[in-house]
Amino acid sequence: MTNKIRLGIVGYGNLGKGAVKAIKQSPDMELVAIFTRREPETLSISEQGVKVVHISNASDYKNDIDVVLLCGGSATDLPEQTPYFASMFNTVDSFDTHAKIPAFYQAVNEVSEKYNTTAVISVGWDPGLFSINRVMADAVLPNGENYTFWGKGLSQGHSDAVRRVNGVKNGVQYTIPSEAAIEKVRSGSQPELTTAEKHRRVCYVVAEEGADKSAIEHEIKTMPNYFADYDTEVNFITMEELERDHTKAPHGGFVIRGGETGDNNKQIYEFSLKLDSNPEFTASVLVAYARAAHRLNQEKQYGAKTVYDIALGYLSHRSAEELRRDFL
Ligand code: NDP
Repeated sequence: MTNKIRLGIVGYGNLGKGAVKAIKQSPDMELVAIFTRREPETLSISEQGVKVVHISNASDYKNDIDVVLLCGGSATDLPEQTPYFASMFNTVDSFDTHAKIPAFYQAVNEVSEKYNTTAVISVGWDPGLFSINRVMADAVLPNGENYTFWGKGLSQGHSDAVRRVNGVKNGVQYTIPSEAAIEKVRSGSQPELTTAEKHRRVCYVVAEEGADKSAIEHEIKTMPNYFADYDTEVNFITMEELERDHTKAPHGGFVIRGGETGDNNKQIYEFSLKLDSNPEFTASVLVAYARAAHRLNQEKQYGAKTVYDIALGYLSHRSAEELRRDFL
């Protein structure tokens, strides 16, 4: 009988792949199975000896798994998969459609309270670690303003928009926080900034042979909703350069609060992330919260939880004594 926390993964996309690696780095955890909607034998898994099971057989594993990491997409997968899995397992997901989180919470909470499971929702870095820091900064500095900047990050939606432009063979788009805007915020002046003022957009484009590059650049820069309101830069590169330099999924960003205390003393609270791989980092956060989900469930704390409901000690593999001694 093992004492390790037994995990399952639902969905083998970018996040699911990151989850396999994150579990490997956690000595107190083990991966029991990956569940997928595809034919299990069609998945090529980079790690040796990982069991892949069709999602329709997940209920067979009810007694073999302590927590499942739900790695499906937020748009259509998680609204179905989280309530379904929360009726059988403790769960952690990364639901990131901010406007829909209250309704999602209600739906998941109803199921997890009914079936005595613990479901941690909307975990990752945003929502997730950024959310914790927005609340912390607001609680500590009530007289102030929160700012969130994203990037440098590869944006899937904007990269798709670039690739749809006539004459474009391939391309990627990075969202980059504006240094000028960040400096204004850091100065403590609490400026009013639109999303477009806070970010720049930088595109790397491979043009079809003979395509009119200036027409491509013009079409990208004037594209409504995507680029027209932004300071947009278009760089033309070769296919080799794209494959060499732009295949990773970097991301990150800043949460900054500028506040004042006492007699106009400026206080700046800043939290930042610089990530080489967005899915690998997000999966690592999911794994830490899986530890919390397991412990909370053992304490009979059932229902849906967000990062605000969970004390940090529950995330750590270290004992409370060790944390008091070495980390306070
Ligand atoms: P993917 O599109 O890579 O994967 C989503 C699902 O699609 C998978 O679970 C998988 O399900 C299916 N899938 C993946 N690859 C294939 C394929 N080749 N053919 C057919 N189906 C496939 O999404 P990501 O893993 O990149 O992201 C998942 C979610 O993570 C995002 O929607 C986002 O909401 C969230 N996220 C949250 C963050 C946060 O900070 N909170 C940060 C980053 C992401 P199956 O195996 O069942 O087919």
